[in-house]
Amino acid sequence: MSSGESRPPNSICLLYAMNTDSIPRPKVRKQEYLRSDALRTLQLPPAEILRGRAGLLEEALASEDRQSVQRICNDIAGIIAEEFAIAVPPVTVLGVRPHRVSGGVCVYEKFGDYNFQTSQIRLWMRTALLQKVTSYGTLLSTLCHELCHHVDVVKLGFPNTFHTRGFYERAGLLYHHIRNTPVRPLIWVEQDDGTYRINWALTMGGQRAASKKNHQMRRG
Ligand SMILES: [Zn+2]
Repeated sequence: MSSGESRPPNSICLLYAMNTDSIPRPKVRKQEYLRSDALRTLQLPPAEILRGRAGLLEEALASEDRQSVQRICNDIAGIIAEEFAIAVPPVTVLGVRPHRVSGGVCVYEKFGDYNFQTSQIRLWMRTALLQKVTSYGTLLSTLCHELCHHVDVVKLGFPNTFHTRGFYERAGLLYHHIRNTPVRPLIWVEQDDGTYRINWALTMGGQRAASKKNHQMRRG
């Protein structure tokens, strides 16, 4: 599948860099972008089976058991794929996140990606600099993000699976559904170029929470 002129073959996903992609100019791509942006709901599988797997995922991660984490992530991918009657995207869980350091500071860190050609999802379960196992919430959120790319491409008719407000909100719905936590409405701020970024202060309900999130972003 063509990745388009302005997108890499793999979708690179930085969890906390929740800005929407630039709006493409070509008509067909722009139409896809706007349809994705407008779609704020997602069909969700029954909660019980997913939440059972999520509990196992949290335990496996706490045990730093990479193979079990990978197996459970594949189970969750299978449940999502069954719900949408689509092919199951294989999930591989790897170690330390690919990253780039400049001047002693981590300036880039990859949490996960989705391959347009093979539907392969890759997740990394160890942080870049400290090489510690990532938090359960971060890993699950990344898995949901990549699964939504797959659903976009093979089910929803969004072959470029742009990061739109709708995309992030669909991924958020899936995440909170699996984790059994209340959906947090994302508060978007429009930028000069028509893209959006999340206002974490408002989204998290207070400046204190926003500061914590910003700290996480810098830490990578
Ligand atoms: Zn992405």
